[in-house]
Amino acid sequence: MCLDYKTELKNFFADRCLFDEPMDKHTTYRTGGRAEVFVLPKTREDWSFVLKMAKTAQVPLRVLGFGSNILVGSRGIGGIVCSTEEMNNVICEGDTVRAEAGAPLDKACELSADAGLAGMEKLSGIPGSIGGAVYMNAGAFGQETFDCLDYFDVIDREGRPATLLKQDLNYSYRHVEGIEKFIILSAAFTLQKGDFKTLVQTRNTVLHKRREKQPLEYPSAGSVFKRPEGDYASRLIDDTGLRGLTVGGAKVSEKHAGFIVNFNHATPEDIKNLMAQVRQKVKEKHGVELELEQILWGEFN
Ligand SMILES: Cc1cc2nc3c(=O)[nH]c(=O)nc-3n(C[C@H](O)[C@H](O)[C@H](O)COP(=O)(O)OP(=O)(O)OC[C@H]3O[C@@H](n4cnc5c(N)ncnc54)[C@H](O)[C@@H]3O)c2cc1C
Repeated sequence: MCLDYKTELKNFFADRCLFDEPMDKHTTYRTGGRAEVFVLPKTREDWSFVLKMAKTAQVPLRVLGFGSNILVGSRGIGGIVCSTEEMNNVICEGDTVRAEAGAPLDKACELSADAGLAGMEKLSGIPGSIGGAVYMNAGAFGQETFDCLDYFDVIDREGRPATLLKQDLNYSYRHVEGIEKFIILSAAFTLQKGDFKTLVQTRNTVLHKRREKQPLEYPSAGSVFKRPEGDYASRLIDDTGLRGLTVGGAKVSEKHAGFIVNFNHATPEDIKNLMAQVRQKVKEKHGVELELEQILWGEFN
């Protein structure tokens, strides 16, 4: 008898395979439709199996970190979403931090600062996973993930493992060329010796600035748009008079105009429509086409 791919996944992953999983639970916008199949792989063998199933059944497979840069449409996501949540080891050895893809980036920042290692302290408070940070080349306060990244281990969509060295990749602001071909399993960061007290102080200052400047009291996915050349998206949005602009339960944050917040049970479509309005109005006033930093998944109404 030939089992369908969902049954095979359930048999293999047991309680690490869920059906019709609500994505509001797994994204920081706290809204979104359901994932048809939601799997929590831990090992390379798990990944090989789920990749094989996706290929055989010809369904899409998406990799989810902490969902802090993703908006999922109300009609949900067909195929398989694999969460890296259960791959969360992070260690500091000598001048190197090694972390699995589902470890919190902030945990790596904390460990390195506590060990007197410099290079990641300004990434403190970014609420993503290591895999998401590498994928996005996340950054803040003049520091980027790729600054101190040494190499990362991946598998490709055929299940073939590889180690990618930073110097072999083209990367830039919030962009890594060709990264979508890979599933990131772990990463290693080489850091510089620094002064423990100064590093911890910098980390605390950064965390304080985030609380002060960002609307952390509401669900969001951080900056909606990339920084345009020579300017700031938030400045353009503010200058267009869009602070507080609302669609349904979604609002351009009054505290930080670069953020859209889910202030009152926003639907994904409220947020998406607000994004479109902001882009259009900024284009009309400033002639600048804002580029989305956030990623849209699944079907929208
Ligand atoms: C309050 C707030 C503040 C923020 N501040 C910042 C900031 O200062 N700087 C900044 O850069 N970002 C910021 N962000 C955005 C977000 O935290 C980053 O983009 C982060 O790197 C996303 O990581 P994630 O694990 O949540 O990835 P997700 O949102 O889950 O995924 C993002 C993309 O990465 C891919 N991905 C994730 N993990 C893997 C993996 N293991 N293998 C392959 N692909 C993978 C996904 O498929 C998706 O395409 C902020 C967000 C919030 C909510």
